[in-house]
Amino acid sequence: MSAMTDQTSSFDIQRVPFESPTFDVMDGAARWEIKVHEHGMIALVDVMPRLVPQGQTADAAIVQAARVSYGQGTKKVNEDRGLIRYLMRHRHTTPMEMIEFKFHVVMPIFIARQWIRHRTANVNEYSARYSVVPDRFYVPTIDNVRQQSKTNRQGGEEPVDVGTAQDFLNYLERCHSAYKEYESLLEKGVSRELARIGLPVSVYTEWYWKCDLHNILHFLSLRMDAHAQQEIRDYAGAMFALIKPIVPIAAEAFMDYVHEGVHMTRLEIESLRTGKPLATDNKREQAEWEEKRKKMGL
Ligand SMILES: Cc1cc2nc3c(=O)[nH]c(=O)nc-3n(C[C@H](O)[C@H](O)[C@H](O)COP(=O)(O)OP(=O)(O)OC[C@H]3O[C@@H](n4cnc5c(N)ncnc54)[C@H](O)[C@@H]3O)c2cc1C
Repeated sequence: MSAMTDQTSSFDIQRVPFESPTFDVMDGAARWEIKVHEHGMIALVDVMPRLVPQGQTADAAIVQAARVSYGQGTKKVNEDRGLIRYLMRHRHTTPMEMIEFKFHVVMPIFIARQWIRHRTANVNEYSARYSVVPDRFYVPTIDNVRQQSKTNRQGGEEPVDVGTAQDFLNYLERCHSAYKEYESLLEKGVSRELARIGLPVSVYTEWYWKCDLHNILHFLSLRMDAHAQQEIRDYAGAMFALIKPIVPIAAEAFMDYVHEGVHMTRLEIESLRTGKPLATDNKREQAEWEEKRKKMGL
């Protein structure tokens, strides 16, 4: 027998019941799924907290964490909705980290490349070294073949003419025909890890992606924004739709203070105060100020 003794058996675990009846924030469902484009999807597969007191939402976990720092007796911010909105406005973010969401996402590799830049999530991706890549490719609809933006070097805007759109779709078709060769090379015995490297970035991958609410809202602030590529915005919008019923108060505050809000620079405030043009000859900064003025209806 080992000389080491099992000390864990000496701990007395007290199982403290909930003070009031609880319910499952996902209504007992295994997953909440939203289809994105022809082959993609995002599914919410788990949440922490999964059980919350009846009549509340998972927002309660934010309040519970915040009250540890503000104290139960805090009078000025003792109303839950007001507290969460206060935290959002003042970027007191750690209480938001007490909530976690786990998603299963199926998306093209070019979107996954943008998504993976968000380093604060836990990710487990489908291995194309281990399994055969399924025959799924992203193809935009013909009216969504966008022309290069004149103002944003990274962006696309209005659709190209129908003939050019068709040329683009034909070009994708030719790229996707690489899949047949991929299959036949696998049959000839080429390893999966090498055979996959000839596939285009429109091919789909999938992963489990777990992240806390604070970092999800940061992700959404960047990827629901008009400057993000349309295709990842489609996923970000679906992600927001999945979390909104679970944390409706935080979601509303995010919309009010972050997504629909406007951050202003000192130069912009100065221009607004004096009525003078923005004190810079940087064209991009001027264009950004114009965008913000438009958003504010000025
Ligand atoms: C419209 C758009 C265009 C983009 N264009 C490009 C591009 O052309 N080229 C390119 O390479 N990328 C590009 N990106 C990616 C961008 O630069 C960020 O890498 C990405 O948005 C992730 O942002 P993040 O680092 O804030 O997020 P996360 O990685 O989720 O990090 C969240 C926050 O945690 C903190 N953090 C995380 N890791 C560290 C760390 N190691 N050190 C310090 N702080 C850390 C930071 O405060 C960070 O804001 C683009 C992003 C967007 C939205």
